[in-house]
Amino acid sequence: MSVTRIETVAALRERLVAVRHAGRRIGLVPTMGALHQGHATLIARARRECDHVVVTVFVNPLQFDRRDDLERYPRTLDADVALCDSLGVDVVFAPSAAEMYPRPMRCTIEVKELADHLCGAYRPGHFAGVATVVMKLFEIVQADVAYFGEKDAQQLAIVRRLVADLNVPISIIGVETVREADGLAMSSRNQRLDQCERKLATALFTALSTARAEIESGTQDAERVRAAARSQIPSDERLRLEYLETVDPETMQPIERILEPVIVAGALWVGTTRLIDNLRAAPPSL
Ligand code: AMP
Repeated sequence: MSVTRIETVAALRERLVAVRHAGRRIGLVPTMGALHQGHATLIARARRECDHVVVTVFVNPLQFDRRDDLERYPRTLDADVALCDSLGVDVVFAPSAAEMYPRPMRCTIEVKELADHLCGAYRPGHFAGVATVVMKLFEIVQADVAYFGEKDAQQLAIVRRLVADLNVPISIIGVETVREADGLAMSSRNQRLDQCERKLATALFTALSTARAEIESGTQDAERVRAAARSQIPSDERLRLEYLETVDPETMQPIERILEPVIVAGALWVGTTRLIDNLRAAPPSL
């Protein structure tokens, strides 16, 4: 195995000093592990574009609003390290929670309006937790480039704004969502679905695709778009649509009259698992 597994901030810093001094371009891929083909796509892109690739695997307690979700989050570190090795990753940084948070945090990143809608409205404190850990990882790794998935569109918009507002010297690259053959967005949480739930889970992509088709065919009224999308969710006691919204791709504010490209985003509970997904959609040009 040629990948190096590092668990402490000090050891990672020590290793990266030499890399940086050699003028090598460092790429960072932050993850929570249980790696799948979506993560692999981000990592492969980093490998192509950077000299030294650091993948972080850290299930960040600060961003979980529900204890059961944190406890049930899949953890497969040995397999993750093996996958990273096969993809030519240089370093896997997998710190413990105590290493990342040795004392209670008294200074954190506050996220304003960008977190008011979509997941932010349903997961109190989630994006403050995300922004804080991402900022810590940026400071620890001091990478030139970081890779994030468009699957988490609100997270990506927040990270882009975090970097702009706080003058962080790093480029942010968004990578298109990787899907299963039936359209389901790949996610570590998909592992929790049983066979029946797995079939039901495609309803989210179907609903979002319907919304996109409505917008592309010229429907401007967001409520009509949402109604068409919602009608695609089968009535099944295991399915509960938490939200389905059309928002501005940068500000993440709801758009009620669709005259510009938007993101259609949704969250669907499938049994006890919460899945999110989104699609870009643009009205037909006039
Ligand atoms: P996570 O481990 O779920 O926190 O994800 C780590 C990174 O991988 C985030 O930037 C995600 O947006 C990205 N990611 C997760 N799933 C996918 C996917 N299906 N396609 C593309 N990127 C993804």
